Amino acid sequence: MAVDLNPMFRSLILSATQNRAVAGLVRKHGMRLGAARFVAGETLDEAVEVLRRLNQQGLYTNTTLLGEGVRDRDQARAVVEEYLEILDRIHAENLKTNIALKLTHLGLDLGEDFACDNLRVLLERARELGNFIRIDMEESARVDATLRIYRRLREQGFDNVGTVLQAYLYRSEEDLRSLLPLAPNLRLVKGAYLEPPSVAFPKKADVDRNYLRLAELSLTGPGYTAVATHDERIIDWVINFTEQKGIGRDRFEFQMLYGVRSDLQLDLARRGYKVLTATPFGKEWYFYLMRRLAERPANVLFILRNLFK
Ligand SMILES: Cc1cc2nc3c(=O)[nH]c(=O)nc-3n(C[C@H](O)[C@H](O)[C@H](O)COP(=O)(O)OP(=O)(O)OC[C@H]3O[C@@H](n4cnc5c(N)ncnc54)[C@H](O)[C@@H]3O)c2cc1C
Repeated sequence: MAVDLNPMFRSLILSATQNRAVAGLVRKHGMRLGAARFVAGETLDEAVEVLRRLNQQGLYTNTTLLGEGVRDRDQARAVVEEYLEILDRIHAENLKTNIALKLTHLGLDLGEDFACDNLRVLLERARELGNFIRIDMEESARVDATLRIYRRLREQGFDNVGTVLQAYLYRSEEDLRSLLPLAPNLRLVKGAYLEPPSVAFPKKADVDRNYLRLAELSLTGPGYTAVATHDERIIDWVINFTEQKGIGRDRFEFQMLYGVRSDLQLDLARRGYKVLTATPFGKEWYFYLMRRLAERPANVLFILRNLFK
């Protein structure tokens, strides 16, 4: 029987992420060694160039100011200010770009109300500008707070907000069912964090199966589905399923990461599907890069090859 080494590799890299020596080394050399493949630069100006180019290629985009786990109120407020500037710039540049952000970047660890208030400020500006904000999903310990904040904002009348469900969590089907009456705009992902078997399927085959389950429920529900994966089998399944059921292309989109399967992104866009490229930028790219490395052993080889060039 073939042994799936990927889960072991994944936990090795994700555990190493917390190691100070690893962090120091990667932070120092990562950009030069290939982080730029996944991150659209460290400044907003650099990101705008990339977003414009992707739009010109027929791709929609979102952007994220990289950062997470903020534990200082002033720092969280500064992040809000930066996002206000990003929203204004997207508008001024006429980009087909929305925002995806992490609640711990807005200060979730300092209090749920604080993070919710910060997000409300951004949603108000986004609404004025006709834009949309998606709340990324972080570790399983933060799912409850994230969904509570999402619900609160929907109750307060914001319909320009969406969130994410992770197929590796046992709870996600239940969460999806309870959100469906809100006609939610949901991004479905497999899940990028290190989670114990008490909360998440340890086997990739089970995660993939659950992804299809969630996709079926969401696509046949009243909301909008962002199918965020590079897994071609899932993408083909979604194409066939929506065609069979007569689900319009305005009810879902595909989402992939900047620097990953660009060929597939362009191919789907040419075939008339809406494709959004998630295109983050900023100086705090370390944790983001490590999650991308953990997803694929070949990415570590890519970095190592650059080391010896
Ligand atoms: C737009 C978007 C937003 C996301 N938001 C979140 C979020 O909010 N919370 C969260 O926990 N996770 C998020 N993720 C990450 C997600 O959970 C997965 O870790 C990631 O997408 C890899 O899984 P996959 O679905 O592509 O399938 P996999 O089965 O991991 O990969 C399928 C194939 O895709 C390609 N591939 C996948 N990943 C990579 C990579 N890093 N580099 C190169 N090739 C790759 C390979 O060819 C691989 O064989 C997001 C992913 C996307 C695309």
